[in-house]
Amino acid sequence: MTLFFDVDTQVDFLLPVGALYVPLGEKLIPALARLTEFAARQNIPLLSTADAHDPQDAEFAQWPPHCVAGTLGQKKVPETVLPGAVVIPNSLGPLPEGWQRAPQIIIEKQTTDAFQTVTLGRVLEARQARRVVLYGVVTEVCVLSAARGLLKRNLQLDIVTDAICELDRARGDQALAELQAAGARLVTVEQATSPD
Ligand SMILES: [Zn+2]
Repeated sequence: MTLFFDVDTQVDFLLPVGALYVPLGEKLIPALARLTEFAARQNIPLLSTADAHDPQDAEFAQWPPHCVAGTLGQKKVPETVLPGAVVIPNSLGPLPEGWQRAPQIIIEKQTTDAFQTVTLGRVLEARQARRVVLYGVVTEVCVLSAARGLLKRNLQLDIVTDAICELDRARGDQALAELQAAGARLVTVEQATSPD
């Protein structure tokens, strides 16, 4: 089964008013909207990660404060949210009731690597995905960490190159080269949204 996986498509990263704006992030929005709509139309489960920081989080030693829980900047841009989305906080204990039937699962995280949450591994295991279509921000940080974790789980990985964005061009290119060498395929939105 295929899963769409969108990384941190949140106001603080994508919009010029955001606290950790990724230059030209807002230009991704039409592509993100297309992928979100396609997943909904084809009944492809959509898995999203979203930073949900506490103001004291360790990550803020390295990055300017961003995506603090409860702020507008923490919200996902509306083009990436489906009605009926279920938010899964990063805590032990049972996953929210009915999450398996939700069209979208939003995994909250406090670190750049979503696999450091106590929830993502469990969700992936329960979903029994074979192929993951990955996109979002930023290429050389959170997308890279997610991609490495997915490849480690032997999932077929497609990275949508026109629906990702980097902070640093050279590092972004380096990340994609590493992932491609590790077996990821680079695809376009057009390819990712053509039923096969
Ligand atoms: Zn963060």
